[in-house]
Amino acid sequence: MILLNPGPVNLSQRVRRALAKPDLCHREREFFQLQSSIRERILAVYGLPASYAAVLITGSGTAAVEAMLTTLIPTDGKVLIIENGVYGERLTRIAKIYQINHALLHHAWGASIDLPALRDTLRRDGGITHMALVHHETTTGRLNSLTDIGDICGDRVCLLIDAVSSFGAEAIDFSGSNIGAAAATANKCLHGAPGVCFVVLRRELLADAPKRNLYFDLANYCQHQDQESTPFTPSIPCFYALEEALKELEDQGGRPARQRRYRKSMALVLGGLSALGIESLLRAEESSVVLNAFRLPPGMSYDTLHDGLKEQGFVIYAGQGSLAESIFRVSVMGEIPRTELERFLDAMGEIVRR
Ligand SMILES: *Cc1c(COP(=O)(O)O)cnc(C)c1O
Repeated sequence: MILLNPGPVNLSQRVRRALAKPDLCHREREFFQLQSSIRERILAVYGLPASYAAVLITGSGTAAVEAMLTTLIPTDGKVLIIENGVYGERLTRIAKIYQINHALLHHAWGASIDLPALRDTLRRDGGITHMALVHHETTTGRLNSLTDIGDICGDRVCLLIDAVSSFGAEAIDFSGSNIGAAAATANKCLHGAPGVCFVVLRRELLADAPKRNLYFDLANYCQHQDQESTPFTPSIPCFYALEEALKELEDQGGRPARQRRYRKSMALVLGGLSALGIESLLRAEESSVVLNAFRLPPGMSYDTLHDGLKEQGFVIYAGQGSLAESIFRVSVMGEIPRTELERFLDAMGEIVRR
């Protein structure tokens, strides 16, 4: 099955084989070598210095996001959350559950961030110490501009990003955009297996980390991982797969090469669908190279399209919430040969003409 959903992704044979490497005890030297190799390779994806750390957690992408927000906002801090999709709203749900002091800048799903309103909110509320937003809003494929936001944050406000569906493919200027931390996962643009996620953070932020929970405490993980230890049982097969996926990314030319590959794949999909009269929800300049949302052809339900494509070996992704009736999503992340994308477009053509 070719997965055109935004993770979990199709694995290469190389990564799949890594899942079946030998059994390991997580208290032995071999595991700590694996863990350290992954942490170093994650930092290398964006060329980050040792003032940053990659902290690994066994869990899905949301675990990394929850760990980032609960560990990195001090009890006397206040976070401004920017919402323009499902995942931005998830940041708010986390802040509410843990009663983290927060303010909101809400937008409709898919809307661009209102920068004057953002500046105004920061000017009026001097208590804001952190800002949290989603880099690539997978709800609609919108890529929020970290450069613009980072400029507004300046040195006063620490920027925390959900980079779950952009890390490994889209550009992220950590120092230029004043990014304090980014949460991400193995099984999206990095092409690993689901089960391990991580937060890349500036180490200094752990100094006054509060204790809001046990399992998501990044300070605890970081301390253990720095000292060749681990606080809990990790998903070892997924660690093996992530290490192999990171090596594969390096062999293929790193993050910029992956971005170029996705851009080419997405251009093919956009062109093919446009020829069938199917238009993208957002303009290309506003969209990620990873995923785009498309309007359903008039008179066709998502289920008809989904089931027709699945019969031919392709899984697309539905819109969420109120968008479920009007859009479908196509992601090009994962090990997807160009010939399969061409076959997908042929299948689309057949279904649309039927
Ligand atoms: C996929 C995704 C997540 C995390 O989803 P999980 O199902 O927990 O892995 C978080 N944020 C964004 C933007 C995502 O695309």
